[in-house]
Amino acid sequence: MTYPTQPKASHYIDGAYVDDTSGDVIDVIYPATGEVIAKVHAATPAIVEQAMVAAQKGQKIWAAMTGTERGRVLRRAADIMRERNHDLSVLETWDTGKPYQETSVADATSGADALEYFGGLAGSLTGEHIQLGENWVYTRREPLGLCVGIGAWNYPTQIACWKGAPALACGNAMIFKPSETTPLCALKVAEILTEAGLPNGVYNVVQGMGAVGASLVTDPRVDKVSLTGSVPTGRKVYAAAAAGIKHVTMELGGKSPLVVFDDADLEDAVGGAILANFYSSGQVCSNGTRVFVQKGIRARFVARLAERLGDAVIGDPMDPNTSFGPMVSERQLQIVLGYIDKGVAEGARLVCGGERIDKKGFWITPAIFDGVTDDMAIAREEIFGPVLSVLEFSDEDEVIARANDTEFGLAAGVFTQDLKRAHRVVAQFEAGTCFINSYNDAPVEAPFGGMKASGVGRENSKAAIEHYSQLKTVFVRMGKVEAPF
Ligand code: NAD
Repeated sequence: MTYPTQPKASHYIDGAYVDDTSGDVIDVIYPATGEVIAKVHAATPAIVEQAMVAAQKGQKIWAAMTGTERGRVLRRAADIMRERNHDLSVLETWDTGKPYQETSVADATSGADALEYFGGLAGSLTGEHIQLGENWVYTRREPLGLCVGIGAWNYPTQIACWKGAPALACGNAMIFKPSETTPLCALKVAEILTEAGLPNGVYNVVQGMGAVGASLVTDPRVDKVSLTGSVPTGRKVYAAAAAGIKHVTMELGGKSPLVVFDDADLEDAVGGAILANFYSSGQVCSNGTRVFVQKGIRARFVARLAERLGDAVIGDPMDPNTSFGPMVSERQLQIVLGYIDKGVAEGARLVCGGERIDKKGFWITPAIFDGVTDDMAIAREEIFGPVLSVLEFSDEDEVIARANDTEFGLAAGVFTQDLKRAHRVVAQFEAGTCFINSYNDAPVEAPFGGMKASGVGRENSKAAIEHYSQLKTVFVRMGKVEAPF
C-alpha cells in the first residue's frame, strides 16, 4: 500500500535516502483521523553504523571548508525552506496534527530562521589572540566532531533545524533521530540541505525508538548529544553521555508559571494565557500552565478566558481557519484525560473543556481548571496538553515563592503594567526563558533553554555556538626555553 506522505525511504545517510526494511516498523499516524499515513523502519545496527561512518567522513570535508562557505550552504537551505513553506507546513501538519494556521507560520519558517541566522554567523566564528609580553597565545575555535540530535514530537522541523544549524555552522556533522511519533519532517530538512550543497554525510537522519537513540548516545565516535525530550529521558541520556564524557545540551520539560497581577491589561493577559497553554494544543515545553492570578481579578480573568476559548475553531487541521488541532497520539490523549480526572478528583473546578471529542483521531476540548492549589498533581506535573490551571495569589513575595516551588525551570512570565515590578519579579524567577507582558516568543536571536531539571545548555543565539564548538589554546614562545636542568 502506498500512503500520500510515504517518504522515499526511512533514513537519510550520506546525502541519500536509505532503507533497511529489517528494522521494526513504525506506523506514522495522522492525529486528526488516527489513520496510518506512512510507515518507516527503525534503524538496525547496520544503519547506525552506516550513519556513523558517513558522518565521520563528511565532517572532515565540512570542517575543512571556510566558515563563509559553510554559511552559504545553510543560508541557501533557508531560502529553499521558505520557498517550500506551504508543502513543508502541510507535511508538518500530517506529522503532528497541528493546524496549518500554525505550521505555516511557525515551523519551516523558524527552521529557516535558524539556518539563516547560524549561516550568517558561520563566517565570523573565531578564536582570539592573547599577547603575553613577547610570547603569545592564540585560541582556535574547533568543532566538537560528530553530534547526535534527538528530537521530541511537537516541533519536528524546528527541532531538526535548531540542533542542525548551529552544529553545522561550527563545522560538525550531525546524526539526527526524530521522535518515532513524528518521523517525516527531518527527512525533508536533510534533503534540502543536500540540495543546498551540503557535502554528503554531514547531516543524516535515522529513525527509531528510544533504543536507537540510546545506541547513538553510547557510541564512542559521538562527541556531543543534544536532546529535546522529557525530564525522565533527559536523566537517562545525560547519564549515558556522562559515561563517555560527551558534551550535552538538554532541552527538557517544564511546568512554568505565568503570573498575572491585578494591574495587568486583562485582555492582554488573557491572550498571553491562551498563547501559553493552547498553541499546538498545549504540546509546548515552555507553556505557562500554572497561571497565578491576583485575588481581585481572578473571577473576571477566568470568565473572560472561558469566553475566549469559545472562539477556538476546532476542526480539520488543514483548513486555514482551524485554530485548535488534536493531540499527537492516542497515548498523549489518554495522559491528558487522566490528568483531567485527577484534577476533578483533587477538588479543582473544571470551568470548561477537557472532554474527548467524539470523532476519529485524538481530539480533546481545551480545558481550564480554577481553584487549583500548589499541591495538586495538575499543578506539579507536566501534562503536555491543553490544560490550564488557575491558582489565586495575594502578594508579590508569596507568588514568587510559589512560582519557583518546582523542580522545573524552563520558562516563566509576568503580566503587569508596573515595569519596576515586572523586572523585579523576572529577576527572581528560577527559569531560563522569561516573558514580560508576552508569552512563548522564541526568536532565533535569543538564547532558549532551561534552569534546574528543565535542562542544560542553550539553543539559538550566539550562546549555542559555545555548545557546538570547543577552544584549543596554543602557547607560542618567541624567546629561548629556560629549563631548570
Ligand atoms: P520523550 O522524552 O519521550 O522522547 C524524546 C526523544 O528521546 C524521542 O526521540 C525518543 O525516542 C528519545 N528517547 C527515549 N528514550 C531514550 C533513551 N534512553 N536514549 C536516547 N533517546 C531516547 O519526549 P516526547 O514525549 O517525545 O516529547 C515531550 C517532552 O519533550 C516533554 O517533556 C516536553 O516538555 C519536552 N520538550 C522540551 C523542549 C525544550 O526545548 N525544552 C521542546 C519540546 C519538547
